[in-house]
Order: sequence, then C-alpha cells, then structure tokens
Amino acid sequence: MTSFNLSRRGLMMGAAGGTAALMVASPQVLRAQTGAAAALPTFYDRMVGDLRLTTLLDGYFGLDQELVTNLDAAQIVEGLEAAYLEASGPIPLAISTHIIRHGDQITLVDAGAGAAFGPTAGRLGASLGALGIAVEEVTRIVLTHMHPDHIGGLMGESGAVFPKASLHVSQIDHSFWTDESIASGAPESAQDFFALARAVDAAYAGRVELFSDGADLGGGLTTIAMHGHTPGHSGVRVSDGAEQLIIWGDSTAVAALQFSHPDSGIAFDADSAQAAETRRRVLDMVVADKIAVAGTHLPFPGIGHVEEKDGAYAWVPEHWRHM
Ligand SMILES: [Zn+2]
Repeated sequence: MTSFNLSRRGLMMGAAGGTAALMVASPQVLRAQTGAAAALPTFYDRMVGDLRLTTLLDGYFGLDQELVTNLDAAQIVEGLEAAYLEASGPIPLAISTHIIRHGDQITLVDAGAGAAFGPTAGRLGASLGALGIAVEEVTRIVLTHMHPDHIGGLMGESGAVFPKASLHVSQIDHSFWTDESIASGAPESAQDFFALARAVDAAYAGRVELFSDGADLGGGLTTIAMHGHTPGHSGVRVSDGAEQLIIWGDSTAVAALQFSHPDSGIAFDADSAQAAETRRRVLDMVVADKIAVAGTHLPFPGIGHVEEKDGAYAWVPEHWRHM
C-alpha cells in the first residue's frame, strides 16, 4: 500500500515506496480512454447573476484505489460499478479550473496542474488562449488550496505565468505549505508539494494576499472555511444578487464514492476526520439551501446540486443552460 498522511499534528508516511507523483497512475491508460479529441479546449459557461463563470477542463488523472481511505475494497468496487466505471485500476478524475468575468475583472479560481501531473493535465494556458484571454489580463487568482493540481498552472518554465494578477491564498494554507520546518519534517514523498508551493510563493512575491475564513474578496467572491483536505482548504462562494454558486475545491472529490460514503477520503487529506466533518457540513448546507456547487475533480464540468439519499448524498449534475 502506498499512502501518506499530512497532518498538522505530525507528518508521517503510511508506507515506504510512495511518491509525490503517485496520483498520476498510468497516464497512457488515461490517454487511451480520453482520446486525442479530449485535448481540445473544453469549456462550460454559466452565469451567476451578472458574473460569467467559465469552467475549463485542465485534464485528467487516475487516482490509485489504494489512496481511498475509510472504505474497503468491496465498497470501492461497488461504488465504481454503480457509476459504470472500471472496477479495477485507477479512478479517473477530472481537474477543472474556473474563470469569473465581470466587467474588466478576470478572476481565475485555481490554476490546474501545469506540468506537475504529466501529459494528461495542464491545459490552462491553451484554454485561456482559445478564450482570447491573455495571461496579462487575469487580474486576480484565488486558490482553494496549495496542492500541485491546483497551483501547478501558476508556474511556467520562466516563473510566474500570470504577470499582473494578485494571488489570494488562505492564510492557514499558505503558512503550512511555505513553512520550512514543516517541510523539513515531511516525508520524502511530500517534498515536491512543499517545493512547488514555495516556488509559487516566491514567483508571486509582492502580490500574494492572504485571506481568513469568510473573507469578502470583492467582486462577488467570499471564502468559506472547508478545512481538512489541507489545513486551510477553502471554498469560494460566487454570488450576485440572489444567485450564488459555491466552488468547493476538493471538499468532495471522488463522485463515485464520496457522496454515498461521505466519511471516505483520500490519502492526501491532511486530517481525514476533519475533512469528513467538513464534507458533511458542506453537503448538508448545499442540500438545505439548494445551492449549486462546483467541484474540481467531479465529472466535468463538475457543476450541479446535491440531494440526500439513503442516509447519505447523491450528485445531480446540472443540465446545461444553453446560451
Ligand atoms: Zn485536487
């Protein structure tokens, strides 16, 4: 078994042999599954009041089944089969990012994997190009957390990809991932995570803005504490007038398993108990208030609603509002 657990209380490795790249399982298999056409820019457009939300497909990766926590093998197979997925092999997960346009303000929420996850992800630059958005035009970037599949797209070969944008990061996540003493005590397999976060922090020096829980970022965006997956993992509420949508990052990430088994997690959760508690709280909130949500790793575009089902939850994908 390959897994590791990042925790504020202590960083430990579950077993020897894990690598930071182990989320990227069998990219050649995923390429075969997605085909060449999937490399075309892929978008989903939706309004939230007067805010235009465009969800971009950054790519895919395969989650090793051994990285699923709090579920036994039979429950995993049952969930995958119920979703008509292959019962063996890595679980295919999308990576999405979001552009929010209002007037001349262009906000990017998360940046995808860049080069960090291999050839099946990292399409942010091509997608922005296809949308006619120059990197200089992005005015700000908001991060749900500092994992590589959310910040890799911020970095190019010569440093920061976005020369003018402010970078908004949870104060808690930022202090965790840029803390040298935490990094030096972390397992070898996590070193790439820390190194990338620190490289991003350095590349965007002078324009990193730290937010607290429930912060009003302006332009219709507020942050919501969703701690657990990482210490400062945060959702972003996008609202205009009576309309809203919550980008919940990785709060619920594996659609085939975590709606029906909300206590299940992945080995990358910093604190799996806190992540599960957060997941239930967020799911209960969006069920009660019928709030539309967007999840980074849910089947693209990962936008929809949640319902209660059989003592747990079910995902209801949004029907595309043609526009
Ligand atoms: Zn993620």
